[in-house]
Amino acid sequence: MFRRATLATVLPAVLLAGAVPLAGCTTAHGSADGRPIVAASFFPLEDIVRAVGGDAVHVVALVPPGQDAHEYEPTPLQLTGLERADAVVYLGSGFQPSLEKEVDGLPSRVRRLDLLRGQHLLPVTGPLAGTDGNVDGEAVGDQLDPHVWLDPSRMAAMAGDVAVALRALAPSAATQIDANLARYRTRLDALHHDMTAGLADCRSRVLVTSHRAFGYLAAAYGLTQVSIAGVSSSDEPSARTLRAVADFVRSHGVRTVFFQRSLPRDLAQTVAGEAGAQVAVLDSLEAPTHQQLAAHADYESLMRADLASLRQGLGCA
Ligand SMILES: [Zn+2]
Repeated sequence: MFRRATLATVLPAVLLAGAVPLAGCTTAHGSADGRPIVAASFFPLEDIVRAVGGDAVHVVALVPPGQDAHEYEPTPLQLTGLERADAVVYLGSGFQPSLEKEVDGLPSRVRRLDLLRGQHLLPVTGPLAGTDGNVDGEAVGDQLDPHVWLDPSRMAAMAGDVAVALRALAPSAATQIDANLARYRTRLDALHHDMTAGLADCRSRVLVTSHRAFGYLAAAYGLTQVSIAGVSSSDEPSARTLRAVADFVRSHGVRTVFFQRSLPRDLAQTVAGEAGAQVAVLDSLEAPTHQQLAAHADYESLMRADLASLRQGLGCA
């Protein structure tokens, strides 16, 4: 794992000092050593750029460790840095509204790569959609679900899109980027294979979560997601939704309600407590902590931890 770079460590010192460009500096952007600077909006995209770009690019992570990706707002220093970056890789469709707004205002020279553009997105549905439970009045309009990274096959597709952009930014490293992409896809394929096998035979196929982030994972592995809160981590459920999900959990003998480490566990505990179920961690990979990053957590290791948690919570053979 590479050292986690910040804009402060890769941008020319002159930028951080707020001074005029250095004499003799021939480009207004890029890193001091000439490698392109690629800003990745949050952890899974950082994982892709790091894996595919390797030594050919400087990767800059935007969302600080442990912070909510949906609610992220770039700091003034990050905004200055974004203007000097060569590319920004992010997810559109309202996933990070503040960042999307700032990306729109960047100089045209900064290449923008919205990785949701190449994806077929699923609509956001109500908390009990796809089950025999019903909560009417909880419709969510025409919103699309941005949580594509929780399906490893979709990660592989996004990695391909990133490789195209990185080859254009660093043509002399194209061979290396292609090899990195092939290696990364091999790992993602193995992960997908292990998740398919590991979730094939489970006592329960209902995935009850606090944050509605696991629709693509559920679709990929034949699970049904029931969520307490919304598709944005700040969406609060109504008392009626809480009641309906708790009733569903009790009447369907669901034994585990999953919650995210980065969010308060109250909602999951409330529902689990009312229904006599237990709670377990399921990470949406939106905000790995300092501790996880210090332990060299990456996309694959966090997804494998989720697989173990799912197998335990759903009673998989
Ligand atoms: Zn989310």
